[in-house]
Formats: sequence, structure tokens, C-alpha cells
Amino acid sequence: MDFKKSKKIQTEHQVGLNTGLELVSICVDRNRYRTSKDAHGGIVRCRSLFFPLLVLALSTSPSFARLPSASISGKVTGASQSAIPSTSRPDLHTQVEPDPAKAVNRDFSEVELLRFTALEPIDIHTHIYKSDPLLFEMLRKLHLHTLDIVDVSDNGNAERKDLTKENNDVLEVARESSGHVSVCTTFDPYLISEPGFTEAAIHQLNESFARGAIAVKVWKNVGMEVKDSKGNYILPDNSLLEPIYRDIESHHKTLVTHVGDPNTAWAAPNPSAPDFSYFKNNPQWYMYNIKDAPPKQKILDARDHLLEMNSDLRVVGAHLGSMEADIDQVAQHFDRYPNFTVDLAGRMPYLMLLPREKAIAFITKYQDRLLYGTDNTIYPETEVGTWVSRAEVSYANDWRFLATDQTVEYGGRRLKGLALPNSVVKKIYHGNAVKWIPGIADQ
Ligand SMILES: [Zn+2]
Repeated sequence: MDFKKSKKIQTEHQVGLNTGLELVSICVDRNRYRTSKDAHGGIVRCRSLFFPLLVLALSTSPSFARLPSASISGKVTGASQSAIPSTSRPDLHTQVEPDPAKAVNRDFSEVELLRFTALEPIDIHTHIYKSDPLLFEMLRKLHLHTLDIVDVSDNGNAERKDLTKENNDVLEVARESSGHVSVCTTFDPYLISEPGFTEAAIHQLNESFARGAIAVKVWKNVGMEVKDSKGNYILPDNSLLEPIYRDIESHHKTLVTHVGDPNTAWAAPNPSAPDFSYFKNNPQWYMYNIKDAPPKQKILDARDHLLEMNSDLRVVGAHLGSMEADIDQVAQHFDRYPNFTVDLAGRMPYLMLLPREKAIAFITKYQDRLLYGTDNTIYPETEVGTWVSRAEVSYANDWRFLATDQTVEYGGRRLKGLALPNSVVKKIYHGNAVKWIPGIADQ
């Protein structure tokens, strides 16, 4: 690998400009790009006020007077029309990164952060089980909302083994988050053979709705692990689950389905598969070695049956609806099931593996059906400072791939970002989540 991380070498000129509204500080790097943040370090939210102020600052600052005027006016003119340039305007990134062959794998630059936060981004797929000031600081800095998802698992982290504790922990994170975190609760499918399972699950879900939960997750253990009293795998369209789906719909909540896993789980070992190491480290989900496990297609068919049976229920298929290796199959599902959408959580590498033009065409055509997500997880024992550093880089890299033509790096490959129009990026990061998961950004 000759890939070298792009280094952000930046010198800062702090130019105070007391406007009577806010103290604007401006930083300049050696590429002569500029951005601004308020005196408290937060990105200025009110662009309509801010950019005229920035122009004023630039025109009156001795530091900027030495910069070529074309450089200043070109960027500031574009920015003053809209904080995020459309494709017809000069792309800030091509100016920030004069060497497009240089792959980047680093945190947001100041200019990038300005563009990212302007999206008011929503990550609809996280698992955050601990309130932590560093997490909340990151959410504020990135203007990020998240959907915090509860999963019950008898073979994973201890946190996921006790639904009541986990649900309470997630509700607590949401309460402490100043409106940045919303809750997606779940039910415990391991109890499916208990008398009164369905009624108890509905009662417990409704309690969580009353406490603020806005969505419900059905997880992959339905289909890949949990069996009924006769020893048969239960599938997502099990008749005992159907009243639960109807209850979710009657409360106008959204169902998030993670059913099945990547094809890698059913295939012979293939070290070049994007998720090979996951199944190597989690043999309990490596269906290839579990001979009585249902085939993947049977699980997806049951999910599709659920979609048909509940045509008024909004369903978000996590992880590209577990159809990550066949984007045409995802498209066919969008065409067939108007109540179905998908998130990108943990499956960005599959989009990166597509031919660039195909990825652009797919995302453009189905721009109303794709929701950004990550699967970022904080367990009680997670060291959040380190986590935040990594999370910020991953948010930056994902955004660069979707929104810019910068060269991103994945798995030793260099890829040109998709440079999707801002209107599309805004839907993926914000608008679609608001539409498909009502309540997610109400605060
Ligand atoms: Zn997840």
C-alpha cells in the first residue's frame, strides 16, 4: 500500500469580529480555504446572517487582503448563495483538496464540518447504552440526531441479555441527550413459546411508546436463531408476531427489520468478503456451519410476507434490507412495496463495491427510500473518548463518499466519491428519516 493519510496542516489566524450578534473567528489553512465558528466553538447555525458577516470579515481583514481576490470571491460567492454548493457551483472540496488522487481517512475539516452540519444529519442506526458527556458533545458538534436501537441477544454483549435494563438504559440516553437521541425499542422473541407472549410483548411496547419510543426493532435472531417449542426456527412473519406489527402500526410507529445477514453468512469461507472477519469472530451467526438453519431467501421471503400483510406499516429494512449484494433486488423491493425503505448501516462498503455510475443511478432513482445509518455502538464498558474520535472519522468518510468527489479509501482500494447533488444527500441524511420515522427530530 502506498496510501498515505492526507495530513491536515493548518495555520490559524484568529480574526475577531464583534458584530454585536456573535463573535466570528476565521481560520485559514495553507490551501486558503476558510470557514467559521462562533466564539464558543460551535458552527454558526444561521447561515443567512453568517455569510454576509463572513464576507464583511474577509473584506476588512488585513490577513485576507493578502489572499488572491479570485480565490476569496469564488468561494464566498458560492457560499453566500447556499452554505452547500450545488453541483453547478464550484465544489469546495476540489479547492480544499488540490490533489484528488490523495485518499482521505480523517476527521472533518472545518469546511467539511460546515457542510455536514448544515444537513442536520440523522444516523438512524446506533446502539448507545451509556450516557456520556463526550458522546453528547460530539452529537452537538456534528448537529447529529440518532435513533438508538434496542436489540435482545442471548449470545452477545451482556447489555443485550436483559431487555428491561437495556431499554431503560437507552431511554436514559435519550433523556440526557437534549433531544439528539430517539429510542427504537424491541420485544423479547426468546419468550415466544411462553403463554401470553404476544399480549405481554404488546403491553411492554406500549409502555415504551408512552415513555417516548418512536420505533420497534425486529432483529436477526428472528429467522436465524430463535426456535419455537417444537424446535422450528421462527420467521419474521410468525403468526404470534403479526398482532405486534398491527399494534405498532396503530400507534403510528415505525418497524425496523434486521432480518437475515449478508450472503457471507451462508457462503463458504471467503476472506475477501467485506464481512468475512465478522463471521469468523461470531460463529454463532455463520449459518454455513449450522446445517438446520433456514436459507437466507426463506427469511427474506418471510420479511416480504410481513410487508404484504402490513401494507400500511412503515418498515425500514436495516443494512440495505439484507440484500446488500444485489442492489437490483433492493430496487425491485422498492418498486413492489411502497411501505419499505432501507438504511445504509454497516453496508457502505457494498455501495463502494458497485461501479460508480451504477451507485449514482441507484441512489438517484431511489433517493426517497434510503436512510443514513452506521450501526455505531457504545456498550457500558466502551471508552467513549476513543470511540468519539473513530466515530467522527467514520462519519466524515461516509459523507465524503456520498457528497463529494474526493478520493476515499476502503479496504486498500481508492474510490472517487459519488458527489451526489445536495438535494439527494439532504434526503439521505435528514428528510427521509423525518418522513419514515416520525418524531426522530422533533426536538
Ligand atoms: Zn444494529
